[in-house]
Amino acid sequence: MYQAKAAGRNTMRFFDPALQAVANAFIAFERDLRLGLERQEFELHYQVQVDDGGHLTGVEALLRWRRGGQQLVPPVQFIPIAEANGLILPLGQWVLETACTQLKAWSLQPNRARWTMAVNVSALQFAQVDFVECVGRALHKSGANPALLKLELTESMLIDDIEGVVAKMKAIKAYGVAFSLDDFGTGYSSLSILKRLPLQQLKIDRSFVHDILVDPNDAVIARAIVALAHNLDLRVIAEGVESAEQRDFLTGIGCDAFQGYFFGHPVTALELPDPLRAAAPAPPVPPV
Ligand code: C2E
Ligand code: CA
Ligand code: CA
Repeated sequence: MYQAKAAGRNTMRFFDPALQAVANAFIAFERDLRLGLERQEFELHYQVQVDDGGHLTGVEALLRWRRGGQQLVPPVQFIPIAEANGLILPLGQWVLETACTQLKAWSLQPNRARWTMAVNVSALQFAQVDFVECVGRALHKSGANPALLKLELTESMLIDDIEGVVAKMKAIKAYGVAFSLDDFGTGYSSLSILKRLPLQQLKIDRSFVHDILVDPNDAVIARAIVALAHNLDLRVIAEGVESAEQRDFLTGIGCDAFQGYFFGHPVTALELPDPLRAAAPAPPVPPV
């Protein structure tokens, strides 16, 4: 109590030293996260996407944080915190602008000029009243071709205010930007809503792909997603594809595109394969 008073009002001190240590670590983490944006500690890594002919068609941008310029922190560790404290808004805009700048740079390289760029959008980011303008600003500032940008939304964003969601998506689609529905099958999309959304692609969640060869339920779900998507005139991409057998099975059920460690891990732009030499998929990573 004395420590809390000494530190000023509206603060807490835990009696249990272990709890205090956890609280301190969390506060330091949050402070570093804010500073990280100012200090340009964030990076985009890119994971390739391939079509059913094995051709590299584009990438998904995946955010990384090099905390204090040192170790790389994966997004599962900081995105929930950035969502809770609102930092995801400037961070999400940085991701959009950086991804668009990269797209523009690739447009000048003949063998990468047609690559698409998938960008993850957080629920809070999409809910901003001026999100349409945010996307427009990123495109305008970078000079990227909107037709090569694909925004990944999740089902949880599509539950409330469906009219507002559809209107926003249509306004962004009018720029030429496409939408993919990420982690599909893990949420609660109603089919009637799905039909109304201006989507281009469904992304089969990697949890179904993981056991697709051994769990008949997952195989049935994947088949159902492909059939549903094609009936709605949408394309299907499977994420988390780690083996040739999984790719072959997914190809067999009509999946249009793939992403996963079998084709390549997320890497920096410089480490991405040269598509002219990348006809063969990367060898699978041995289990650890
Ligand atoms: P996600 O959008 O589902 O991204 C795919 C995740 O699966 C990535 O994890 C990727 O590294 C991982 N992955 C790719 N291939 C395989 C595979 O073959 N096997 C397995 N087991 N995993 C694979 P990562 O990069 O750690 O990202 C985790 C999540 O963080 C993402 O899931 C996404 O929800 C979120 N995220 C990443 N970048 C951003 C961003 O820029 N903005 C927002 N709002 N969220 C992001
Ligand atoms: Ca994603
Ligand atoms: Ca996903």
